[in-house]
Amino acid sequence: MSAELLSYAEADALVAAFARERIRERSENGPAAEHVALADAEGRVLAEPVVADQDQPSFARSTRDGFACRAAEASAHEFLRVAGLTHAGEAPAGPLPAKTMWEIMTGAPIPEGADAVVMIEHVERDRDRVRLVPDRRIKSGDNIVERGAQAQRGDALITAGVVVGPAQIALAASCGAAKLAVFRRPRVAILTTGDELVSVEQEPGPGQIRNSNAPMLAALVATAGGEPHVLPRAADTAEALEDAIRDALDSDLLLISGGVSAGKHDLVEPALARFGATFHFTGIRIQPGKPLVFGEAPRAGRVSLPFFGLPGNPISSAATFLLFASQVLKALAGREDFRPQFLVALLAKETDRKGKAGLTRFLPACCGFDSGSEIPNVATVPWHGSGDLPAFARANCFVVIPEEKAILDAGTMVHVLMI
Ligand code: AMP
Ligand code: MG
Repeated sequence: MSAELLSYAEADALVAAFARERIRERSENGPAAEHVALADAEGRVLAEPVVADQDQPSFARSTRDGFACRAAEASAHEFLRVAGLTHAGEAPAGPLPAKTMWEIMTGAPIPEGADAVVMIEHVERDRDRVRLVPDRRIKSGDNIVERGAQAQRGDALITAGVVVGPAQIALAASCGAAKLAVFRRPRVAILTTGDELVSVEQEPGPGQIRNSNAPMLAALVATAGGEPHVLPRAADTAEALEDAIRDALDSDLLLISGGVSAGKHDLVEPALARFGATFHFTGIRIQPGKPLVFGEAPRAGRVSLPFFGLPGNPISSAATFLLFASQVLKALAGREDFRPQFLVALLAKETDRKGKAGLTRFLPACCGFDSGSEIPNVATVPWHGSGDLPAFARANCFVVIPEEKAILDAGTMVHVLMI
């Protein structure tokens, strides 16, 4: 093992620091935002906060169907007259006469003078009079959400940098935001390299394989919030690579797949070097993905172009994208939460005996809940190395084997990265 390779933790820290720096630069240069309709905002990153246009709720509301009352007057001993009825959508009624109750529906405004709502299930009714059922007590504030309890007019309810999901869409709608300001999606150039590759439409000749990384990386990029631009596959020649890299220079991020291990046709690093690239690392102590390259290429009048040279084996490409490239992409997309999210799970079966220590390993695995288990459990899927796409398609995560461990026993708590 070459001593100069960074550990997984060192490489991760370096990439995270780079991502953080790009977020800082973006906030200094002002956001590149566009406005999208609420219905199209799912998965986008907010560029401006969503602000409450009213108090939430904007009136004291009942959380139950029942009877509004003064808590001090309600008891199981005395029937009180029902003085009125308010449905959801009606204006606040009242004032509530002394020693009366007021029938009210969920979501309806509380009549002036009432300070609690008794659930309909908790009263006995005698024509137009009600009282609490035996042993039932009620106190001031029960089943009422006061005006402004959730938010006050002018509050920033969602901050810039948050990914818009169903809850954010609902909240924005409740604030009257029919359009949202979101960051422009970063443009990600995807360059696959290799003389052996043919496109998905073609029948591979002897020794050829279909280019599966191009559509896989496009899917990973789109999921992480980028706009994928798949460049034509480049042949393993210096000229082809240089031409392709030149075409990618106006992107926000460049992903190159293949051509970064130490093979004779691995021309990617020398090609990038001819563009004046700085290399932050050219290999890490991980498996799969050891030859991963990360750096940036200068360009006139613009911030440098970050690039990743992903190892060509499909599972290596996917793992290194999820672990490293996705961080930079999410940061470029404006996301504050750009770090990979690991779960904790219980290893259901011991890992492969062939494993050796010295590399942090990310093994394709299947994670889920068994009936009766309290935490998720995970088992590696049998595989024939990092080109085994059928095995990869049976996995839904990578399980992390720490660098110092050759094998992990069943029952070990492990970290899991969902795919
Ligand atoms: P490389 O990193 O270029 O040495 O490629 C490593 C392995 O991944 C080789 O077996 C390649 O044929 C395979 N490979 C490289 N690029 C792709 C791709 N775009 N799609 C599928 N397999 C690939
Ligand atoms: Mg290659």
